[in-house]
Amino acid sequence: MKAKLLSGKLLADRIKEDLKDEIKTLGFPLTIAAIEVGDNPASGLYLKAQRKTAEELGINYRLFKLETKISVEELLKLIGDLNQNNSIQGIIIQAPLPPHIERYKIIAAVNVLKDIEGMHPENLGYLLLGKPRFIPCTAEAVFSLVKSTEINLYGKEVVIVGHSEIVGKPLSLLFLNEFSTVTVCHIGTSSAGHLEVHVKMAEILVVAVGKAGLIKGDWVKEDSVVIDVGINKIEDKIVGDVEFEKASERASFITPVPGGVGPLTTAMLMRNLVRAAKIQKSVSQ
Ligand code: NAD
Repeated sequence: MKAKLLSGKLLADRIKEDLKDEIKTLGFPLTIAAIEVGDNPASGLYLKAQRKTAEELGINYRLFKLETKISVEELLKLIGDLNQNNSIQGIIIQAPLPPHIERYKIIAAVNVLKDIEGMHPENLGYLLLGKPRFIPCTAEAVFSLVKSTEINLYGKEVVIVGHSEIVGKPLSLLFLNEFSTVTVCHIGTSSAGHLEVHVKMAEILVVAVGKAGLIKGDWVKEDSVVIDVGINKIEDKIVGDVEFEKASERASFITPVPGGVGPLTTAMLMRNLVRAAKIQKSVSQ
């Protein structure tokens, strides 16, 4: 294998060590309120990982598990109460929400200083302006892994496959802020038969789709950086979206799945919580 492995776990451990000190200095208990509506096996796994990381850092993690049929008004009432509760510094709205609840309206109701997922329209606006307050955790995890290679991003060809609100879109802004040339691909790119052409151009390739084997190993440019965000369960094995074996013979850096972006995402969430607690403290003084 030619490529160096980019371990999200190692980076996450370093971030968590720093956070432990910062939490001690803050001197008051931190609490996350996570809201889950209905039952979803995939989100159950994310919540478990979040709780585990929170506990490692001595952060309280309160899960509000709500019935699928909850009304929008009831949900907004709960968020209003959590917004007012000074012992809670961060609020998470776990995706997916049932079809009768529009996610953006719920996120817009979260106190913008408690929006540790960085998904409130105001926080996304700050990111667009190049002045981020909270960056969506997965996008920040990907960006930190790329930064850890110490490759100069100025003028680099960055190709992002997947244009979701939590990964592809915010990530494109982070790279643009570094003057990279950013191409964002999605289902339309594949339908038009253009995905391979774009991927072959990528000096930095990020894939966040959720389809195993979508990116063929021989599409990967020699000496590129490959970040695979995808999580797919194939016969009890977790794999990403990129053909790992072949890609790792061509790339200079590549993330493993699992052990790449995943563990770093929850560390970023905790970093946003500590940032939120500091901001809230400074405005209350
Ligand atoms: P999403 O489902 O919201 O969006 C999927 C994206 O892929 C869309 O832009 C869609 O147009 C694109 N797409 C679908 N089929 C395609 C194709 N054939 N060719 C090109 N593009 C195609 O995605 P999401 O919520 O960003 O999640 C993407 C993947 O990343 C999933 O596997 C998810 O489990 C994983 N994920 C991992 C983490 C982590 O922390 N490691 C966090 C979030 C998501």
